[in-house]
Amino acid sequence: MAAREFKMLNSIDVRPSEGRGFGLFAKANIPANTIISSETATIYGPPSIRSRSDEQKVNVFCDAFASASESNRSRLDSHAWNPEQYEQHKDLYNHFDKWLKNYMRSSGSYEPGFNRTEAVMALIKAYSIFWINASGTPDNGAAVYSTFARSNHSCRPNATWRYRGDPPYHLEMVTECDIPAGEEVTVSYDNLSRLKLDERQKLLSNWGFTCKCERCTEEEYMLGL
Ligand SMILES: [Zn+2]
Repeated sequence: MAAREFKMLNSIDVRPSEGRGFGLFAKANIPANTIISSETATIYGPPSIRSRSDEQKVNVFCDAFASASESNRSRLDSHAWNPEQYEQHKDLYNHFDKWLKNYMRSSGSYEPGFNRTEAVMALIKAYSIFWINASGTPDNGAAVYSTFARSNHSCRPNATWRYRGDPPYHLEMVTECDIPAGEEVTVSYDNLSRLKLDERQKLLSNWGFTCKCERCTEEEYMLGL
């Protein structure tokens, strides 16, 4: 029998989390099997956003970004970004510039003398923010879900997530156990439950951090590390 589900939307808060930027925190005691957030994508990229061609990836992203609402574009801008990745993405400058030129032409706002540098740099930054915060969608696309993107990883998470509906999908976060008020809500960024400490650490290095969760700390202690 499936466990009964509750809905407690707005029961979580975004707050600074020690050493990890921002995180999600329970505002009240939240029982297990509670839907704590349900949101649609801030920016959704269809499967072609994972194309092997950089130019196509850039075009698909820029189309998605340009068709998003202004509030979703500024919401994306409020997320974390990685300056190193941003530097790498600057190599794609010409693809972004070409997209922008075509976009301005098709919207009738193109002027040959207009300096596009600032607008191109803003697009590159948005692209960097997108990829560092994006989740893989069931159709093999990628999307940023703003609340979910604030959640931090734990190898012993107290919440999980699932997709609902059709692209651009709704993403729901659901608690896996009772979460007391004030505790951080965490998810696992990958399927790590059966992996050993060193295997998990290796996988998590893809996200650019060393996990210091309760489980990792305990296992380090047991191993005398
Ligand atoms: Zn961990």
